[in-house]
Amino acid sequence: MKICLSFDDGRIDSFFAAYKILKNANLNASFHIATGFIDGTYISNDFGNDRKSLSKEHLLEMHDNNMDISSHGDKHVMEVDDFLTSIKKLSSWGIKKPKYGFSIPNSKYSSDELKLFLNKNEKDILYIRGGRNPSCYSFKNKVNYVFYKLFHLYHCYKKFNEPNLLALIDKHLLFSLVVKKHTKVSDLIRFINDYKETNKTLIIMFHSIVENPADDWEWGEDSFMKLCSFLVNNKNVIETLSIEELIKDEKK
Ligand SMILES: [Zn+2]
Repeated sequence: MKICLSFDDGRIDSFFAAYKILKNANLNASFHIATGFIDGTYISNDFGNDRKSLSKEHLLEMHDNNMDISSHGDKHVMEVDDFLTSIKKLSSWGIKKPKYGFSIPNSKYSSDELKLFLNKNEKDILYIRGGRNPSCYSFKNKVNYVFYKLFHLYHCYKKFNEPNLLALIDKHLLFSLVVKKHTKVSDLIRFINDYKETNKTLIIMFHSIVENPADDWEWGEDSFMKLCSFLVNNKNVIETLSIEELIKDEKK
């Protein structure tokens, strides 16, 4: 099995928590950066409690240490010109690539918007990472979601998240499993364990990794450390890599 860990927005904890833990474990991951958040040209409540961003220096250090630093828009939207602004900024900060990954802000899009975005930016885009597979939003799965949130039943967690396992890699839209405050690390590990011997790929979407999660989009440092040690201990069957590496692997 292949696992990709991805972090959205460019929040300060991406450096002080996620990156440090990943580096210790010798694991690579993808970080999707809203560039206007980094240089202060886009001020918004989109980015959680703390609202501090990474600096250009943080980004460069992470890039130099094999992390995939990619775009999450400049102003946290999916628009043609906004994407170009974001990759121009990344490049001017020293993160130069022939093509950049993109993760869809707020996971909101129509298929027409996505098509237009892709057509116009094709030559600059390495991959697009979206949110959950739309099948997660069937009535049955919405019930599974609520039951998991209330009672932490693993069976519901598994059913709800199964559609996010990728059998084929379509770089034009990669679905992901979303980790939120209520996600128990034991259930996420059990889920990976159930598929680790398969050929599937699982992309996991995180936002903040913090000591004491407060809002929905934060997850505990302890939990993240447990997940990383599980991945390291299962290296023989689980390949953990950035989405950039995943796409490059597919091309071989
Ligand atoms: Zn975001």
